[in-house]
Amino acid sequence: MRKRFVAGNWKMNLERRSALALCAALKDGVGAKSGASVAVQSTVRVAVAPPFVYLAEVVRALEGSVISVGAQDVGDRVSGAFTGEVSAAMLKDVGAHFAIVGHSERRHVYGEGDVLTNQKLLRTLEAGLEVILCVGETLAERQGKQTESVVARQLTKGLASVARADLARVTLAYEPVWAIGTGQNATPEQASQVHQYLRGVLSGLYDEGAAEGLTIQYGGSVAANNAAAILGAPDVDGALVGGASLKAETFLSILAAGTLVPR
Ligand code: PEP
Repeated sequence: MRKRFVAGNWKMNLERRSALALCAALKDGVGAKSGASVAVQSTVRVAVAPPFVYLAEVVRALEGSVISVGAQDVGDRVSGAFTGEVSAAMLKDVGAHFAIVGHSERRHVYGEGDVLTNQKLLRTLEAGLEVILCVGETLAERQGKQTESVVARQLTKGLASVARADLARVTLAYEPVWAIGTGQNATPEQASQVHQYLRGVLSGLYDEGAAEGLTIQYGGSVAANNAAAILGAPDVDGALVGGASLKAETFLSILAAGTLVPR
């Protein structure tokens, strides 16, 4: 049985003080490893992805909790003269557990393509970290009935050269671009449909067991008032949450929804 996985992507938000205050509130809400919030701890895996500059401090702030910490992006090279880049080994060095690659803002604001995304993913796995690979279609692609071809291409190219054994460290996030930061979430049915399709593609790339084992998050305007419906949808294994992860109250409500809806 796949455990639900809810991750908060803070994007380029919060400052040192507000980031640490959020960590304290989340730690309180979710509980220490041996603490009271057993429901969340046993049914939902929780993570946050702060900006690079706060990673080390957030890791320290969340020490002793079940909340893991990841990066929003990662460099595509191992090391060297690549100004502005941060390597996967550096992320590991400061205590990050995973990196997000192929987020729609990387793809559509910064023009990053499938090959670059794949290189980032490979460097992350080589460093021994986990990775969240994001895929998703634009509104024009959905309207042009290209959703399946777009996500299949992003998934296939994103996972190029990934061994089956390494899939255990890969999470997939289906994030329709038109739903990100817009307040217009995909319906649970739309999310389920694409997640099931993605599992079919994975089964073709690897095998049915690999497809069944892979955690697929939905991302795109997940909020306290729609989390239960989305997290309860077939084949939706969790959520990648942007705006609603910036406030402890809403993020904790989403986590609580994850513990209430049956699998
Ligand atoms: C995201 O950034 O991955 C995201 C889903 O954002 P939001 O929840 O704000 O739509």
